[in-house]
Amino acid sequence: MKNKTSRRAILQGLITSAIIGFDVINRSWVTSANAASASKEFVNLPHLDGVLYTDDAARAAVSNDFGHLVYRLPSSVLKPGSIQDIVRIIQFAIQNNLKVAARGQGHSCYGQAQVEEGVIIDMSTLNKIHDLGADRAVVDAGVVWSQLLQATLEQQLTPPVLTDYIELSIGGTLSLGGIGGASHRYGVQVDNVLELQIVTGSGKLETCSPYQNRDLFEAVLAGLGQCGIIVRATIRLIQAFTNVRVFHLYYDNLNTFTHDQRLLIADERFNFVEGQVVSDTKGGWRYMLEAASFYTPPNQPDNTLVLASLSYTSGTEQIEDKSYFDFLNRLAPTVAFLQSIGVWSNPHPWINLFVPGTAVEQYVGDLVSTLTLADTGNSPILLYPVKTDRFKLPLFRTPNDPVVFLFAILRTAPLDDATVRKMLDDNRRFFEKNRDIGGTRYPVDAIKFSHSDWKQQFRPVWGKLVSAKRRYDPNNLLTPGQGIF
Ligand SMILES: Cc1cc2nc3c(=O)[nH]c(=O)nc-3n(C[C@H](O)[C@H](O)[C@H](O)COP(=O)(O)OP(=O)(O)OC[C@H]3O[C@@H](n4cnc5c(N)ncnc54)[C@H](O)[C@@H]3O)c2cc1C
Repeated sequence: MKNKTSRRAILQGLITSAIIGFDVINRSWVTSANAASASKEFVNLPHLDGVLYTDDAARAAVSNDFGHLVYRLPSSVLKPGSIQDIVRIIQFAIQNNLKVAARGQGHSCYGQAQVEEGVIIDMSTLNKIHDLGADRAVVDAGVVWSQLLQATLEQQLTPPVLTDYIELSIGGTLSLGGIGGASHRYGVQVDNVLELQIVTGSGKLETCSPYQNRDLFEAVLAGLGQCGIIVRATIRLIQAFTNVRVFHLYYDNLNTFTHDQRLLIADERFNFVEGQVVSDTKGGWRYMLEAASFYTPPNQPDNTLVLASLSYTSGTEQIEDKSYFDFLNRLAPTVAFLQSIGVWSNPHPWINLFVPGTAVEQYVGDLVSTLTLADTGNSPILLYPVKTDRFKLPLFRTPNDPVVFLFAILRTAPLDDATVRKMLDDNRRFFEKNRDIGGTRYPVDAIKFSHSDWKQQFRPVWGKLVSAKRRYDPNNLLTPGQGIF
């Protein structure tokens, strides 16, 4: 509602925040200091429990992400003090035709959590664990998974699936899927959500679950932030083990490697199955299967039993015991090292694909035969299978095959524009080749994507996404950085 600004409103604004409104004519924020030069009428900012920032430092901090490839400067950053703040700011954004995006930890690679000239909602200020029961946790979307894991482990509980890196926000990974080494058993993180609270693009706070507002539930999980902002989630928990035995097994042959991976996800003898394409000593590639058995002493995994009938290169096995938390937090030392040498802030032109199980050996074999270590930026290449019958959410898009493989080149690029451009061009080429054999993209990465690419990506459920967008975000305010609508 547009109000004529008054002395009283300005005074109230001064008390609650320096920003007092938005000048719709000049498309700029009005502060108590510049109110005199604002157009005669402006829309008053509602009361906020948190703070809306418009200073250069706050805006610059969210104009970038882990990818360091795309920069978009928002006009303001909300650090919400309550869920109601998100309701208020979305209603305010509707009135003023401002775009809005939630930002979890900003670990996207290609501007997915950015918005030019709009409002970024920094979810990290909503970071409370509200309830921890025997089989579920109720958490704010700004909680990071490591924080939840530490709390649940005190009750010998754990989320069933964790990503390789656990400093990601719950809202961020639930907007995408959240895949990890336990996904062959439990699906992705979105398959382990019992209930959500959402602020839709219409500015309404709604509760949804498989039994209530299911349409909204399915539009938001793996929904790339298009229909609503996840503000609270009820996450399923299971009993946790205390220890992990990790097995690294090396293969020279891709087909033997994927054969064993398929065997392991079929018989589920391990709790965790992943794998990587790794460099060999001769400038080529070999394959590392990473599998883990979770246990609580005095019980122990039987090494002979779990390694039975696997065809890794004899004598290459590396076996190590860790605490459950240290295993799940295994990337932390590498990240600390990369941060200490400054490489963590290099560009990250990642590519993350789901390749059909029926074509994976041909696709990956062809691709890596042309790939040098320099093309990858000396970075990990993930390759591991998951079973699609574990995936229940329609917007989590994988190929139409019972087994699909996550194939991801997690590139760190040098500070050199030509190399970054080449990596991005390669990403597009690799994506197209995979798309043409029925593959999909896991959209955390950096691939140039058009509207028709998105249509193709969501093909059987594109109509469902479009109607959900019309229903829950009719003004098309939310998450423009994905480039879908
Ligand atoms: C080192 C590293 C390792 C990774 N490992 C894995 C892995 O093993 N498995 C895996 O699945 N992914 C992995 N990822 C990818 C990761 O899941 C995504 O980058 C995810 O976006 C990160 O969460 P975030 O909190 O940083 O989200 P952001 O980058 O902040 O946001 C991602 C998207 O979600 C939207 N969003 C954020 N919060 C909300 C919310 N509350 N409601 C609605 N929309 C929201 C944003 O607007 C944006 O579009 C990894 C990333 C990194 C950097």
